[in-house]
Amino acid sequence: MAVTTLGVVGGGAIGQAVAWRAAEAGWSVTLFDPAIGSGASWVAGGMLAPLSEGWPGEERVLEFGAASLARWPDFAARLRTATGVEVFVADETLTVALDAADAADLRTIADWVGGYGHDLRVLDRAGVRALEPALARTVRAGLLATGEPAIDNRRLLEGLRKACAAAGVQVRAEAVEDLDQLEFDQIVLAAGAASARLLPDLPVRPVKGEILRLRHRPGATPVPRRVIRARVHGRPVYLVPRGDGIVVGATQYEAGFDTTVTVGGVRDLIADAEAILPGIAEYELSEAIAGSRPGTPDNLPLLGRRTDRIVVATGHGRNGMLTTPLTVDAVLGELAGSPLPEARSADPQRFTTTPSASPLSSAPGGTR
Ligand SMILES: Cc1cc2nc3c(=O)[nH]c(=O)nc-3n(C[C@H](O)[C@H](O)[C@H](O)COP(=O)(O)OP(=O)(O)OC[C@H]3O[C@@H](n4cnc5c(N)ncnc54)[C@H](O)[C@@H]3O)c2cc1C
Repeated sequence: MAVTTLGVVGGGAIGQAVAWRAAEAGWSVTLFDPAIGSGASWVAGGMLAPLSEGWPGEERVLEFGAASLARWPDFAARLRTATGVEVFVADETLTVALDAADAADLRTIADWVGGYGHDLRVLDRAGVRALEPALARTVRAGLLATGEPAIDNRRLLEGLRKACAAAGVQVRAEAVEDLDQLEFDQIVLAAGAASARLLPDLPVRPVKGEILRLRHRPGATPVPRRVIRARVHGRPVYLVPRGDGIVVGATQYEAGFDTTVTVGGVRDLIADAEAILPGIAEYELSEAIAGSRPGTPDNLPLLGRRTDRIVVATGHGRNGMLTTPLTVDAVLGELAGSPLPEARSADPQRFTTTPSASPLSSAPGGTR
């Protein structure tokens, strides 16, 4: 390929991953971001859980997420080869139920997702305890997804920064005010929740999420080996293992671009996490942070060509870590003139023909 120039606007996980892989593919890449790696990608939990989050009626979200999950091992191996950075922190996801209604929902998910060829195993109380003995005795059932790992989002950002540098990406610590002013052959818009400020008709809005980081202390209950997900008082909560502790997430509100951490958010997250893993009371509360998920009306991203010069890669909502590998392949395909069939459901033009206003998620437990 003759070298052509590419401007990438936004340096979260999406923009950096696109910049890295495009530079490796031969593009001369410049990445713009006034605060690289400080957005939702820094805040996130790191679950890669499209199957455990499956719910009847959300076929396209399941298929899109599963297609990206299948790409994660190769994506992570490339990153490891390029930078030495290892991103995986857990191999499996265990969703647990505290009451009969939630246990019935786990069976619904297993049956529905199983119909698409994905294997999820329903466990009784003893089966859950055998896997994760530190969980609360009130846990009565579980759903094990052996193929759903988790990553450390901050290690991902560290790896992507190194990979971009090694591939020759030029980084400019500037906010882009007007895409038309950029003098590149092609432009990728990957500005997360702020993307609609540059293309106002994009149906992307900020969806606030608060999340906690808890550090393990000597003598405290060990960190679970798996991602643990549950619903407590109707609120979804999850625990994602880290080398030094647990990430507890996440609240979900429509609050504009506000990223204040509220007392109520922290209180609910701690109470709900403690109902699942009583031993977390002994951990250190090391961080409380909030971010803006780039939400869309149907929980699928916006990936594809807007003009002959602009490709959009935004709107990843609560699944941007999960869907990074598929996004990269879709954008590279678009830039090369061969759109990726698996990304068809994320066509950015889909709302102009079939307006939709479904809520962010109707699935139980569907929040990150
Ligand atoms: C609490 C929480 C928990 C989450 N947990 C998970 C999870 O477990 N699993 C999962 O898959 N996803 C999760 N997510 C979602 C995931 O974090 C996002 O979908 C993903 O980070 C989006 O990546 P991005 O690169 O598009 O956006 P961001 O990471 O927000 O990056 C956008 C970048 O664009 C830059 N920018 C903005 N405007 C401009 C401009 N005009 N010019 C230049 N640069 C600009 C910003 O500075 C920012 O760095 C979570 C999100 C939150 C908030």
